[in-house]
Amino acid sequence: MQSVTFLTSYLTAAMLTFGFLLMSYDRYITQHELAEEQIIQSEARLNEAQKLAKIGSWEFDLQTNELTWSKEQYHIFEMEETPADKLYELCRTKIHPDDIPQMDEAIRIGREKGEGVIYEHRVICKDGSIKHLLGKGEVFKSTDGKRNMLRGTVQDVTERKLAEESLHIITQRLKQATEGAKIGVWDFDVVNNVLIWEESMFSLYGIKREDFTGEYNAWESVIHPDDVDAANEEVLAAIRGESEFDTGFRVIWPDQSVHYIKARATVLRDKTGKATRMVGINWDITDSKKAEESVIKSEKSLNDAQKLAKVGNWELNLNTMEQTWSREHYRIFELEETPADELYEAYRSKIHPGDVETLDKIVSDGINKGGSFVFEHRVVCNDGSIKFVIGKGETHMDSDGKNKIMRGTVQDVTEQKKAAETNSKYAILQSKSKEMEQFAYIASHDLREPLLTIKNYAELFEEEYTGKLDEDATEYLKRISRASSRMDELIKGLLDYSRLSKVKELQQVDCNKIMSEVLADLNLQLQNSEAKIEVKPLPVLSAYPLEMKQLFQNLLSNAIKFRKKETIPQICISAETLKGVWTFQFSDNGIGIEEADKEKIFSLFQQVHNRNEYAGSGIGLAYCKKIVELHHGNIWVESVPEKGSSFYFTILT
Ligand code: ADP
Repeated sequence: MQSVTFLTSYLTAAMLTFGFLLMSYDRYITQHELAEEQIIQSEARLNEAQKLAKIGSWEFDLQTNELTWSKEQYHIFEMEETPADKLYELCRTKIHPDDIPQMDEAIRIGREKGEGVIYEHRVICKDGSIKHLLGKGEVFKSTDGKRNMLRGTVQDVTERKLAEESLHIITQRLKQATEGAKIGVWDFDVVNNVLIWEESMFSLYGIKREDFTGEYNAWESVIHPDDVDAANEEVLAAIRGESEFDTGFRVIWPDQSVHYIKARATVLRDKTGKATRMVGINWDITDSKKAEESVIKSEKSLNDAQKLAKVGNWELNLNTMEQTWSREHYRIFELEETPADELYEAYRSKIHPGDVETLDKIVSDGINKGGSFVFEHRVVCNDGSIKFVIGKGETHMDSDGKNKIMRGTVQDVTEQKKAAETNSKYAILQSKSKEMEQFAYIASHDLREPLLTIKNYAELFEEEYTGKLDEDATEYLKRISRASSRMDELIKGLLDYSRLSKVKELQQVDCNKIMSEVLADLNLQLQNSEAKIEVKPLPVLSAYPLEMKQLFQNLLSNAIKFRKKETIPQICISAETLKGVWTFQFSDNGIGIEEADKEKIFSLFQQVHNRNEYAGSGIGLAYCKKIVELHHGNIWVESVPEKGSSFYFTILT
């Protein structure tokens, strides 16, 4: 039963090839039955019917060996009419020698046992070809009742025989092919929900025949849950005749491993068009799926790596000028995906006009000489900005030796270039500021000496000539003395400022302690001004202690100094941390600073209030800025004139 079903499965699998053969066989049987009926009904139509059905009839006298044939029988045997007493011997000469014993045996059974016979034998035709005949006979008594007769029919079944043989061969070939290619054949009886699997289906699904229940659900239950709905829909759509069954899905083996299956099927329908069967094939595509996945994965990691490194790759066919780029290449050049034959021109149009000539030379050298190149050039971005790019490439012949191919990489080096520029600017600045510091140091150091001489002599002059000089001369001397004192202060400040970068090691600094020391040092100022100081808890951090003290002192003394008249100074000092950065705040309710002066005050010698009212050197905040920068921080001020100022600075810990 199984083998019959599979024979049919193979038939359907090879349906287009064998369909016509099967149909002709069915027609044959029908014609056979019709012919037999006609024999009974009408003698006159006998010959015609026999001819149509290729069935001959015969009568054989088992005593005398006399044989009589119908016309069609002669036709089948390709023999002339022959007298009854000669026909038996003559026809034996036409039968294939290998089949004679079988014939004789059939006659013996009829003669001795009186039983009917069915036999097959071959006839050798005039042209040497072979005909296959199927004979059937029954024993009956002659009209005088004396003799046993054998009467029957012979049917030419050559076509069917040949069809069967070739069907067998093709079925075998198909079986071998499907087994070799690991293709599983299945047959689903849609009406009765019977699913039959041929052997290789079981290895595709990793299950044993005995565990397979043979209905639709047995297949559905092993499909990956994410694919089952789509697979069911494909089956239904094929049954409804909406689409071909040509699909793929994952199956889960009993060991939980996942396998990718490809499936195709044909739906067979009855005369009314109703689907009756689906016959199909499955094969495993896990390896190619995995290969595909790993290609996608490695493409993705290559793409990610290129993105990180800002490196793209490209290929240019120098014969056709067709070009292909990796995704990162497109990103670097800020271009949309472009067809290969238009890409080179698009690329050329993005190159800075000053670099196009070099590009053209590289390409013509590639065409004429080959070799490799490095092309550092500029790219004009969509917003008009410039990118710096290094292209590297080499010329090869492609695998079939027909085309010259240039292949290479492109790297966006804009950031490196800018960093290098900044570094060199920074280096220049650093050396300049070093020079400045040295100059300031030497100048202030050397200037102090003659200044002190002026100051000392002015004081001496004043002392020695007191009462001997008129009022004006005395006043002039006083001014010289005051000016030289102020200049001394300025020079001292400058000297401190220029020494500041020569700092030592960072230490753990308790800012609360430093603040207490500063408050003690400024005690006199605090008392005079009656200032109210609020100090919130301050951090302990890694810093330069002396410089931190100087910083606090400058800010606090400024807050006291630049107070409003008739107003008690209110000063608040606090600090807070965010992501490892401490921000300090020194707020006062003093005279405030104009918006336009906020930047200025951090430069050397900048005093934005009346110097006669508020004494100072204009060095303090420049000094503060330098200290904060030594701690890799920033300093800035927020202020409202006549309301007060808040000085902020950050210290990285
Ligand atoms: P100075 O020796 O004049 O204090 P600084 O460098 O410390 O020099 O300050 C520069 C200028 O910034 C001051 O002259 C003053 O005009 C302004 N300034 C500094 N601190 C304050 C403050 N707390 N309130 C208002 N103005 C201030």
